[in-house]
Amino acid sequence: MPHAEIAGAGFAGLVAATALTQRGWSARVHEKGAELRAFGAGIFIWENGLRVLKAIGAYDDVIAGSHEAFVYEIRQRNEIVESTRFAADSNDRMLTMTRQTLYAALLRAAEKAGVEVVVGSKAAAAEPGGALLTAAGRRCEADLVVGADGVGSRVRDSLSLLKERDVARIGIVRILAPRCLDEFGDGAWHHVIDSWNLSNRSLRILYVPCNEQELYMAMMAPVTDAEATAVPLRQDIWTPAFPQFEPAIRRASADGRYDPYETGRLTRWSSGRVAIVGDAAHAMVPSLGQGAGIAMMNALSLAVEVDRGPTVESALDRWERAERPHTERVQHLSRKAAKERMLSNGRLWNPETKMPIRVVPSGTEHLPRRLD
Ligand code: FAD
Repeated sequence: MPHAEIAGAGFAGLVAATALTQRGWSARVHEKGAELRAFGAGIFIWENGLRVLKAIGAYDDVIAGSHEAFVYEIRQRNEIVESTRFAADSNDRMLTMTRQTLYAALLRAAEKAGVEVVVGSKAAAAEPGGALLTAAGRRCEADLVVGADGVGSRVRDSLSLLKERDVARIGIVRILAPRCLDEFGDGAWHHVIDSWNLSNRSLRILYVPCNEQELYMAMMAPVTDAEATAVPLRQDIWTPAFPQFEPAIRRASADGRYDPYETGRLTRWSSGRVAIVGDAAHAMVPSLGQGAGIAMMNALSLAVEVDRGPTVESALDRWERAERPHTERVQHLSRKAAKERMLSNGRLWNPETKMPIRVVPSGTEHLPRRLD
């Protein structure tokens, strides 16, 4: 039985491990954290990502625990400037959920497939001949090694594959709060509401219902704004700028976190028998909410290609040729949307920015166009 050693039990690592195991491989995932959990509050998963979840058996759990808003509104100072519908009928569904909902569904699918996950095991490096080296000094040989260890990937850097890495001057505090529907009063509080206030300082709240009880707020501010990037939230900064969200700001969890946007590009996505996938290979600006969707697509496609053979090395070449152009197109569109201020100007959604949502991921062609 061919064997894979995978660094990182994030979205990419778990999808790769599950998809390989479902194809007759054995897979062991090394997670540096002491426990298996997702960071970052909430997440958007679009039709393309949902198809990957369906293919690996995590779809039903995600559907049961998530929210379908149907409408993405952009508001400036609480005035609607763009309102866009997303639905299964147009093959561009938008689902929102807590990260933990997505993560738990992926873990269950991995467990069902027979994936082995080791916590507290930090990857330090990889050898192109087929070995993962851990920080504790273990050498784990494999037919395929996968670096899915996120934007600061040790596996990638041990092979000198990084070409560009950029940390933006803007970032987001991600936080969960109760839905507070009884306190909000009348309004379309089931919509996603992307709300901007650029009058005194540059602030944004992306209001995202996750389920009946939980709300995700992505609160954007420049890295240089110490008050607006502070956690716990400074209510004296956020409430006057967004009085419409006062109940949720007041009751927001104290354990959110601020992360600047990071992007990355590699010279190559593989070296010998080692593949790099997810944010480790192609982190992107989150303006289109596609980073995890593309990470999961490329992880599934990696399993599809190595399973086709004839050798791991040739399959990895084929995989990169198939997936890299689309991935870089989405990185470009995401960067462009942020640079041209398409969100704050209310010109975010058009056929080009919706394109990534409607793509049929490799390994999901056998599924019906419209998922049940
Ligand atoms: P990660 O999620 O970073 O997982 C990497 C895993 O590897 C982690 O578990 C980590 O602990 C582990 N690890 C790290 N180093 C090691 C090591 N040396 N050894 C072992 N384990 C290690 N994407 C979307 O699709 N929709 C969204 O709505 C969305 N919103 C976003 C909002 C913000 C503000 C940001 C910053 C990103 C957003 N993204 C979104 C992008 C998305 O979060 C990432 O693309 C996604 O998490 C990438 O998954 P990954 O598995 O590649 O990496």
